[in-house]
Amino acid sequence: MNNTDTICAVSTPAGVGGVAMIRVSGSDAFELVDKIWQGKRLTSVQSHTAHLGYVMDNTDDCDERLDQAVCTVFRTPNSFTGENVVEISVHGSRYVQQRLLEVLVNNGCRMAEPGEFTRRAFVNGRLDLAQAEAVADVISSTTRASHRIAMSQMRGAYSHRIDELRDSLLELCTLLELELDFSEEDVEFASRGRLLELANNLSAELSKLTASFSKGNAVKNGVPVSIIGQTNAGKSTLLNALVGDERAIVSDIHGTTRDFIEDTVNIDGVLFRLIDTAGLRDTDDRIEAIGIERSLRCAEKAMIILWILDCESQNPLDDYSCRAVSEIMKRESECCVLPVLNKTDVASSERIQDIRTQLEEFGNGRLHASVEISAKTGKGVDRLTEQLKSLSGIALVDAEDILVSNVRHYESLKQATASINRTVEALNSGLPGDLIAQDLRETINHLSSITGKITTADILQNIFTRFCIGK
Ligand code: GDP
Repeated sequence: MNNTDTICAVSTPAGVGGVAMIRVSGSDAFELVDKIWQGKRLTSVQSHTAHLGYVMDNTDDCDERLDQAVCTVFRTPNSFTGENVVEISVHGSRYVQQRLLEVLVNNGCRMAEPGEFTRRAFVNGRLDLAQAEAVADVISSTTRASHRIAMSQMRGAYSHRIDELRDSLLELCTLLELELDFSEEDVEFASRGRLLELANNLSAELSKLTASFSKGNAVKNGVPVSIIGQTNAGKSTLLNALVGDERAIVSDIHGTTRDFIEDTVNIDGVLFRLIDTAGLRDTDDRIEAIGIERSLRCAEKAMIILWILDCESQNPLDDYSCRAVSEIMKRESECCVLPVLNKTDVASSERIQDIRTQLEEFGNGRLHASVEISAKTGKGVDRLTEQLKSLSGIALVDAEDILVSNVRHYESLKQATASINRTVEALNSGLPGDLIAQDLRETINHLSSITGKITTADILQNIFTRFCIGK
């Protein structure tokens, strides 16, 4: 990828629209667009001004007006990419967009690669790597919560925090390395007690950031909610009631959902990933058994588990379901099991009370208070969605909260936490300064890779090729 030539691409979504925008970026952007522009010379207009004129089709021996357009001019370095940029807004016909690109290329532009505008913004220091990645997150955000994290990351709050942590580490490391230079003289520039205190604080901060990934990831990709329960308890009916669509097959034939079905629903700005699983029962059917096994594995990854209990069933708390729920509750990662009593439209109040009592005995304080619903009539489903919202804790995402939502950052933070913890151990056991400095350097490198202070061509390639052309 050449970083000096002038590139062009359609930056609005593919297809027909009221208006389409073609972005041109590079040192020769003004001269190249001027060749096909009937209007004020863009080479001589001021930055951040918009101009009405015509884009001309000057190829194939013709010279005719292709469309009336508005060119907005941004002069280096005050543009998205940091280079000279012209944004050409034309009428959104497919032909005009396509032809204009051809004309631009015939006049000396090159078609941009995926993510090349944002990559140039990074290379020219307009954005750091975490901010560049946030551009993609803002574009793909679908809920208020995911939009909030992406915006905060794009504005640089997260990068700023990472840089602060990195700077304190650099200070520690410099003091230790100074000591190494004077090793003959047996001086100690960095008091070990002070170093330990700083390393402990950093370790706590890094662990907190790393731990925020489970929430950050849930905000970005949806809170995983697993719907489990006996066959015919009403799991698919509930999924459909929550999603508002006939997504899962509802039938009174036992074992209809043999694998899991996933769908997302946006509840007041929070995205939930609902997973309807195969009904829990002891079965000889091999395929069904595999489905049940997969359901349990998928429940292991959920943040919230809706345990659907069928009030019409002879024994809603059968041994098999209770064993499965007990297994889930034993796992280490945080999850909440919310019992949902279904089919209350046809159950007597004595029956409902009886199941509640059985649940209390079984749960012994480990289960969340149950919710009573009728998935079929919709009664109580709004109470259930309220519970989902409050259990996710995401409705309360503060604009100031720093949540890690990017897997690459999470991996780097995990490694940074491991190496700072080694530093703490080394300090506690009185290891020599050069070993401590080595771990500190490692921590610094991991943090630097998040904002792109240290990076490789492979990492950049990996990040930017996931963008679309035009971004
Ligand atoms: P699943 O096997 O757990 O997914 O159960 P389904 O959603 O397929 O439902 C099994 C049967 O129970 C279907 O005939 C549904 O119409 C019925 N059903 C589900 N929810 C309710 C409810 O709240 N009330 C009543 N009366 N029937 C329900």
